[in-house]
Amino acid sequence: MLTRRDFMQVTAATAALLGGTGGIAQAAARQALTQAELLAFKPVGQVTLLHFTDIHAQLMPLKFREPSVNLGVGEAAGLPPHLTGREFLGHFGLKAGSPEAYAFSSDDFTSLAKDYGRIGGLDRMATLVKAVRAERPGKTLLIDSGDTWQGSYTSLKTDAEDMVDAMNLLGVEAMTAHWEFTYGEARVKELVGKMKFPFLCGNVVDTEWEEKVFESTAFFERGGVKIAVIGQAFPYTPVANPRWMMPKWSFGIRDDEMQKSVDAARAKGADLIVVASHNGFDVDRKMARQVKGIDVLLTGHTHDAIPDVVKVGNTLLVASGSHGKFLARLDVEVKDRKVTDFKFRLIPLFADAITPDAEMAAFIAKVRAPHEAELKKVLGKTEGLLYRRGNFGGTFDDLICQALLEERDAQISLSPGFRWGASLLPGDDITGEDIYNQTAITYPAAYRSQMSGQLLKDILEDVADNLFHPDPYYQQGGDMVRVGGLSYTIDPKKEIGSRITDMRLASGEGIDAAKTYTVAGWASVNQGTEGPPVWDVVSNYVTRKQVVNLPEKSVVKVVGV
Ligand SMILES: [Zn+2]
Repeated sequence: MLTRRDFMQVTAATAALLGGTGGIAQAAARQALTQAELLAFKPVGQVTLLHFTDIHAQLMPLKFREPSVNLGVGEAAGLPPHLTGREFLGHFGLKAGSPEAYAFSSDDFTSLAKDYGRIGGLDRMATLVKAVRAERPGKTLLIDSGDTWQGSYTSLKTDAEDMVDAMNLLGVEAMTAHWEFTYGEARVKELVGKMKFPFLCGNVVDTEWEEKVFESTAFFERGGVKIAVIGQAFPYTPVANPRWMMPKWSFGIRDDEMQKSVDAARAKGADLIVVASHNGFDVDRKMARQVKGIDVLLTGHTHDAIPDVVKVGNTLLVASGSHGKFLARLDVEVKDRKVTDFKFRLIPLFADAITPDAEMAAFIAKVRAPHEAELKKVLGKTEGLLYRRGNFGGTFDDLICQALLEERDAQISLSPGFRWGASLLPGDDITGEDIYNQTAITYPAAYRSQMSGQLLKDILEDVADNLFHPDPYYQQGGDMVRVGGLSYTIDPKKEIGSRITDMRLASGEGIDAAKTYTVAGWASVNQGTEGPPVWDVVSNYVTRKQVVNLPEKSVVKVVGV
């Protein structure tokens, strides 16, 4: 594999030759990282599983900085995916500065992003999928673990139709879901009707009869192997997202149901049991132990990009990252209804190295054409790196929190710990599209309300417990809620009610449990929340400032880890 040093030498030589810099580096990257190299794979066995997850409606290549803080608790402490930066690189034997270091970790992100450029794009994904299908005719199965329909301007404006059409065109063969449900029951049913492949959610039942709302299992035959794919939706959808959007549907981990689905699939003759799950990685690691007989567990929700398969007993766990950055390929050999051999690669989609698929590129252009003006509108510029992912905060969240404070005239602001949203490099323009990539949800009202110090503490404690409960089956959401105008100390290993201490206003004044504060926020799960859509709040702020600078700050002090 090419190292950054090799790459720089090529760059320097080329630059010297042509007497230029800048674009030369990217040209060299394109040459050095080839499509053929990204596709290189020595096939194994009869079946090739292709997997991606958490695309969050990103049709276009982007930059996405992986987390630099991702703490594991309980039995997950110190295990992937709870390794970041240099520690992550060391664990997986990846070289600092390499293309893989850029794709998989936060290490040296800004500098590497300039060299290696954007990653992803569904037209690049289509190229790779078609190439593998051509190489392995009759043996491939393409599976999506969900969070596909939400996260962009075009998905919001088309009520996710763009993504359903894109996935049909890509030839996805099964999916499960989470954010999909935030389009509401009627729209979900309508879109499922347009899908050319099954929407599998075995753990969603109706509240009245407790009957399954969607199919749980689909069967396929590939390379002479009978494959059952079982879908597991995000178990805490009505907790992490508004329950009023899906009042008749009940969710849950329901691992007894999963066991029944596995056993039923075996009874119907399945040689290979594949689960497409949106549980999140730590939940899936536990479920792989609780439920017997899952051969391959394709996980989603927590956005982890893990370069190797994680084995739990006889179950192979695959975590394929997010935002269309990666396509996972897992080849398996199946004998006597058991996996006897496998080979895996999580392929980063370096956008400059892959020839876009013409058909998908044309589709994407058609989807975006009516929205070009809004997407490309330049609102301002950023001086620093803007990113979101991380347990306690990100600079893009700081931007949103600052916008909420100033535009809504509040003392404190709260922004949810979502894991989706593209990153921007220092000096980049901030466009309309960039704002929507961080905010495009179906319940965007930016509220302004009065909260007691006690309520604020309870909110932080609640969210912290959802993230740091030592039993992953109780982990119910995203990262920690982001705060503006507030600082606090957190001890993740403590119990609920005692993790959060030393809450202070920006002035340094301590938060008083009995006092009332003006709080602005967005993405409330309560029905009837009022306020302007958050994208207007953030757009107005950026337009007013023209240049934003959100330096890395530490309003959250982490202790005890
Ligand atoms: Zn999710």
